[in-house]
Amino acid sequence: MIKFENVSKRYPDGTAAVDSIQFDIQQGEFFVIIGPSGCGKTTTLKMINRLIPLTDGTIFINGKKISEYDIHELRWNIGYVLQQIALFPHMTIEENIAIVPEMKKWEKNKIKTRIHELLDMVGLDHETYAHRKPTELSGGQQQRVGVIRALAADPEIILMDEPFSALDPISREKLQDDLLDLKKNLKKTTVFVTHDMREALKLADRICIMKEGKIVQIGTPHELVTNP
Ligand code: ADP
Ligand code: ADP
Repeated sequence: MIKFENVSKRYPDGTAAVDSIQFDIQQGEFFVIIGPSGCGKTTTLKMINRLIPLTDGTIFINGKKISEYDIHELRWNIGYVLQQIALFPHMTIEENIAIVPEMKKWEKNKIKTRIHELLDMVGLDHETYAHRKPTELSGGQQQRVGVIRALAADPEIILMDEPFSALDPISREKLQDDLLDLKKNLKKTTVFVTHDMREALKLADRICIMKEGKIVQIGTPHELVTNP
């Protein structure tokens, strides 16, 4: 579903951030990219939704080159979760999550139902939390809202860039468990970036290990543990 063919990225200052990588992510797969800081994980992720242009090679989504998609069509179909979730402080949780579904002109009741369902799914009772402002939630709860916001309009693909790395260990563990539940229920094609091997082993269907812009190994958690 997401296919990289000899993809490279060189920044204008000459940094070779990504060097001729290839992989093929299946529909519904949870694909984790892991490696040390600076190895090219974020660059790889941001090329998928065209936040960063490629220098070389081709990325396909559903068999079509990403360069051939209308940029709005592409971005609407890809949810994106960052390390620092930026919720709009003057809007309620529900309003924050509704932004993309509203842009897609979903019907009001459908949006409400969807948001309440997602909030409940990650343990944020919608009657309690839907009408609160972001500052009335803990960091971990805000991060949950960030994850839901990316899922709200039902994109085919979710990109996550170290979404839990700013959290304390307990919140982090809880969010990983939530994500495992969401994964079972929603079966979204997900590309998840982390530098935490425990997190990767817990969440991944397949793990892609990067080093200095190249792919060192790709395999299931089982394959990596038994054949490191
Ligand atoms: P990671 O996500 O694994 O930490 P990045 O993809 O952010 O790695 O960065 C890969 C390499 O590219 C690093 O050497 C980084 O310093 C460099 N890099 C990232 N963004 C830019 C940029 N906008 N301009 C120049 N170099 C960059
Ligand atoms: P991340 O935590 O996602 O790896 P960073 O904190 O490394 O991101 O970088 C934040 C921003 O700075 C990104 O937009 C990245 O492209 C840019 N950046 C990273 N490294 C460099 C660099 N060496 N030169 C210029 N910009 C960079």
